[in-house]
Amino acid sequence: MNKQQDFVLRTIEDRGIKFIRLWFTDVVGTLKSVAIAPAEVEGAFNEGIGFDGSAVEGFTRRTEADMLAHPDPTTFQVLPWRGEIDPTARMFCDLSTPNGEPSVSDPRNVLRRALDRAADKGFTYYLHPEIEFSLFESADHGPDGPVPVDTAGYFDNVPGGTAHDFRRRAVRILEDIGISVEYSHHESGPGQNEIDLRYADAIATADNVMTFRTVIKEVAIEQGVHATFMPKPVWGQPGNGMHTHMSLFEGDTNAFYEAGAEYQLSRIGRQFMAGLLTHAAEITAVTNQFVNSYKRLWGGDEAPSYICWGHNNSSALVRVPLYKPHKGGSARIEFRSLDSAANPYLAYAVLLNAGLKGIEEGYELPPEVEADIRDLSPRERSVLGYQPLPGSLEAAIDLMERSELVAETLGEQVFRYFLDNKRAEWDHYRSQVTPYELRTGLRTL
Ligand code: GLU
Ligand code: MG
Ligand code: MG
Repeated sequence: MNKQQDFVLRTIEDRGIKFIRLWFTDVVGTLKSVAIAPAEVEGAFNEGIGFDGSAVEGFTRRTEADMLAHPDPTTFQVLPWRGEIDPTARMFCDLSTPNGEPSVSDPRNVLRRALDRAADKGFTYYLHPEIEFSLFESADHGPDGPVPVDTAGYFDNVPGGTAHDFRRRAVRILEDIGISVEYSHHESGPGQNEIDLRYADAIATADNVMTFRTVIKEVAIEQGVHATFMPKPVWGQPGNGMHTHMSLFEGDTNAFYEAGAEYQLSRIGRQFMAGLLTHAAEITAVTNQFVNSYKRLWGGDEAPSYICWGHNNSSALVRVPLYKPHKGGSARIEFRSLDSAANPYLAYAVLLNAGLKGIEEGYELPPEVEADIRDLSPRERSVLGYQPLPGSLEAAIDLMERSELVAETLGEQVFRYFLDNKRAEWDHYRSQVTPYELRTGLRTL
């Protein structure tokens, strides 16, 4: 038993914890949970808890169904929404095969591999996500879609509104379970909100995003509303992005910062950004994994559609945000296509490896875009060389299938499973007859 494991065992006893939920994430980003009794925790630390991986999306082939979940004691938290009656805690797990090899299909392990690669070069990877989500009266909907809980807009203060109480309750719970919140505000769409998490390392951030989704859903149930992270729940209204600010550190030094450089952005920062731009199209199936993700990317309202960067340009895919010049540690870049329904472990892994590739290969950063790229004509964009992001899940999968970078990052098994799963989603979708077609065709055709 190490110190942290000891601490967990003592806390379980002191606080009378009755259930310990072991959490892990499947390949498409769904949180999975298995609850164990306090008496099982020591064994779980020593040997792991066995479960049948063949029941989980993307985990195992039938011949190697048995897997072990090893709880990570640093992620132990008591879940406040479970109340006092049956106190419940959770730990995230790392998954292994029965003989102790890290599981190739565990998204947390995919991210760890990418982080090890960065560590070999002396880098740690820090992230700060801006998570957008929508609140609706319920999940029921008529032909115009679900009904938002309010009609407020960007940064609006809504006296007595649902969103206000909702955010306060959610932020309180997040803070109680060790997730620091930097900002929270109403977003521009009706019923749309954003909560930004404070900078943390990549594994902690991905765990935090998974926890965040659960907290938001729990608070919604408590308050009698419906919360969704769907990328574009309502046509013509802003979608739910998960813009992510990132930086690499070498020890205590921000490797993206260089005093006196343009935008104080170092050579490493520029190369990392060039890597993101060069590989943006092929990683999009991972950062934007659903049919609906492309309705956001191509539906306007501040979601990026073209591959370019800018300083404080909200139409660009990658943005160098303003920050206080004396705070070199906060030098960072913001990647804006990622959406709130992505698997954060896989998305952060492909983003990191795209950026690292830029550093390894010394990619040159193209000139920045100052105009709003959506105001340029298609001809102007093509003359200037601004390529579009994929227009649909199908186009994104086609690009991903040819990507060495994504294949290497995800590993053969996750890569294959992901592609098959997404092809099946596309095939299912493309034969649907949508309300749009009925609205525009039923009377006139
Ligand atoms: N909702 C927008 C998106 O889908 C982002 C708005 C903002 O700049 O925060 O990316
Ligand atoms: Mg926002
Ligand atoms: Mg942003």
